[in-house]
Amino acid sequence: MPLLGASLDELTAWVLQQQQPVYRAKQLHQWIYERGIRRLTDISVFPKQWRAELSEVSVGRSSLHYRAAAPDGTVKFLLRLADGQIIETVGIPTEKRLTVCVSSQVGCPMACDFCATGKGGFTRNLARHEIVDQVLTVQEDFQQRVSNLVFMGMGEPLLNLENVLAAVRCLNQEVGIGQRCMTISTVGIADRIRRLAEHHLQITLAVSLHASNQPLRERLIPSARPYPLEALLEECREYVKLTGRRVTFEYILLAGLNDCPEHAIELAGHLRGFQSHVNLIPYNPISEVDYQRPSPQRIQAFVTALKDRHIAVSVRRSRGLETDAACGQLRASQATSKIATQ
Ligand code: SAH
Repeated sequence: MPLLGASLDELTAWVLQQQQPVYRAKQLHQWIYERGIRRLTDISVFPKQWRAELSEVSVGRSSLHYRAAAPDGTVKFLLRLADGQIIETVGIPTEKRLTVCVSSQVGCPMACDFCATGKGGFTRNLARHEIVDQVLTVQEDFQQRVSNLVFMGMGEPLLNLENVLAAVRCLNQEVGIGQRCMTISTVGIADRIRRLAEHHLQITLAVSLHASNQPLRERLIPSARPYPLEALLEECREYVKLTGRRVTFEYILLAGLNDCPEHAIELAGHLRGFQSHVNLIPYNPISEVDYQRPSPQRIQAFVTALKDRHIAVSVRRSRGLETDAACGQLRASQATSKIATQ
């Protein structure tokens, strides 16, 4: 097991096992999480002889395969993992924040029709250190602390719940990112939202709803077939009850498909009295499918229909479109096809 991702207690146990004094654990912690070392042999405060013995022990950092900065300041990273797999991470700066969009899997098995990651299939889950590494990489590149974190990169986080939760713990405790500044986004896996709720975390849960009724949802998200919309919403209600946190519903807007006022009205019907927030995501183009982003007028009409029904709603501003770094465009490739932004 690489050392990255470990708590101070775990590092202490490891140091003792190496027959070193306890205080070395604090040093190790500082060099891993603050100085961002990539090899233990670089820890100059460790005795030379011990360092020589540590050359075989992995810290667990990835290597940079490719980096592309978009004009809006968004930076997309392709990172190479120890086994050669490539994943994507995106750093999104705003005036006051630095948000990192992390991947939870290599590829994704959910096969949502509008998402580039799903088109490439699934390879494997990411380990704890591989998730934490993405945050340190963005932090180092921007030379700024990451303030916010979203599990909206490649993969379905709730299919890799154990490692995602271990990474959340580490990023909260060792890296210092507040739980309230973290969001886990899921397409919804039966029983997993309930399981997540049982951990009583203060993170935000975002659910990729994308449709206002079951037949439409199944058309866009094949994995929704065995998991009716009602069952998904019921688990979300339990999540609110157990954690006291409101749920965000993500809703991708696809012209002529799910963006009619009737869909907004139907959606509002489901969410009446629900402690929630709707985040509309105008579709970001991918090459495999022929969906269209609705016009600004059409988007506004959808917003108004929800607002009229007292549903809290916001529209996600797409970042990094020019470098294929926006939502749904992550495919671990260097494709830099120019896409017209609206
Ligand atoms: N598997 C998780 C997280 C990954 S995607 C999930 O489904 O929530 C993060 C968000 O981007 C999801 O809401 C996803 O549906 C959305 N998305 C996927 N493809 C997109 C596209 N082409 N344009 C806009 N948003 C997209």
